[in-house]
Amino acid sequence: MTTEQSNLFYLATQPRPFLDHGEGIYLYDESGKRYIDGSSGAMVSNIGHSNPRVLAKMKAQMDKATFGYRLHFRTHPSEDLATKLAGLMPEGLDRIFFVSGGSEAVETAEKLARQYAVTQGQSSRWKVIARTPAYHGGTLGALALTGGKLFAGPFAPMFQDMPHVKAPTCYLDRDNLSDEDRGIKYAEMLRERIEAEGADTVLAFIMEPVGGASTGALVAPDSYYKRIREICDEYGVILIFDEVMTGAGRTGTFLACEHWGATPDIIAMSKGLGAGYAPLGAVAARREMVDALMEAGGFLHGFTYAGNPLACAAGLAVLEEMEEQNIVQNCAAMGEVLHARLKTLMDRYPFIGDVRGKGLLQAFELMSDRDTKDPLPKEMNAHSELVELAYARGLILYSRRTRGGVEGDHFLVCPPLIITETQIDEIMAILIDSLDAFAANHDLPVMG
Ligand code: PMP
Repeated sequence: MTTEQSNLFYLATQPRPFLDHGEGIYLYDESGKRYIDGSSGAMVSNIGHSNPRVLAKMKAQMDKATFGYRLHFRTHPSEDLATKLAGLMPEGLDRIFFVSGGSEAVETAEKLARQYAVTQGQSSRWKVIARTPAYHGGTLGALALTGGKLFAGPFAPMFQDMPHVKAPTCYLDRDNLSDEDRGIKYAEMLRERIEAEGADTVLAFIMEPVGGASTGALVAPDSYYKRIREICDEYGVILIFDEVMTGAGRTGTFLACEHWGATPDIIAMSKGLGAGYAPLGAVAARREMVDALMEAGGFLHGFTYAGNPLACAAGLAVLEEMEEQNIVQNCAAMGEVLHARLKTLMDRYPFIGDVRGKGLLQAFELMSDRDTKDPLPKEMNAHSELVELAYARGLILYSRRTRGGVEGDHFLVCPPLIITETQIDEIMAILIDSLDAFAANHDLPVMG
């Protein structure tokens, strides 16, 4: 059965079958067809589907209480999850605020930064500089950061636009700079923007440490992260990392910021935290920032479902599973395997222009010419066609035609972090079959 008749409405998409069940890295539709969840949904299902230990712990909580309002009761799942998470954060970021999703986490981070600045007598600071392209969420406040025509376009008059700087799309640059110099070049754009806006009006800078849906696993040179931190310090700008996609192990460390030792002041997380078992997100902030807020009467913010015991019990069970099964370590190891395998595709398909990523946040991008970096023609609709070819063959990919001054069809390959090498081979076999079909449809060359 397909979704032709439904009361639901979403972004226009292909008709899809009904989901029946999931198991590990696989999903099954009602006809019994099996799909490899090659994108973990939207980079969510980090520990795979239907994990029996997580389900048992959730059931135990359900039998006790599924909800207890946080102004009426403390709950063990929320307290325990906060303690556990605080222990996984960079030194000093041990104050935790729970939410139910990524957009909520991002807006919570912004409001926390703003209220903190006000307590410090810096009420003139309110602008949050974001990068473009980026994705920070779909609610009106988060959209002001996401920017761009695709998601924000029709809604632009409804929110206060925020300033943007170019995301470090170094792989497209054709200058003679070294990678490290390119990192500095892009980081310095932040300084220019801060000065152009007036430093006393700039509250924060927000970025995805490894780009997600917006840029397709964009990783900046090491120098970028270091210089960004220095610039924020110099101008008293709060550094927010949006780790909604990268957090909870996805890049091979618990948080992506660990790769560069560039400690942000606030971290927003979601997706892999609930890992598809519950809608859950969290914000971690520096202790002194939160202390200042609390002294000033508390954080003027909150959501009804924030910190609810069922979602937190799920989150706690997910973290325990990650620890017990060494899932982050597996992600780091399998990330290298997947990256190397994807790289080999460049020998076979000249129209694959770039392979990038960290851990199991990997992507490849199609180009009409690897040297000029020109994208495939938009009308070819490659991002959608290749996804459908793979879907028909039982592999789920996540793709996007990048907007925001950069054009290109990229495909995220982000399986659950529990994947094995044999299962990576399964992904590659279907991917090759799908790319061959794509090439044949468009008379594109295939080598060997
Ligand atoms: N930030 C990032 C980096 C994301 O990838 C997303 C979701 N794709 C969000 C924020 C928004 O999360 P949600 O859709 O759960 O509101």
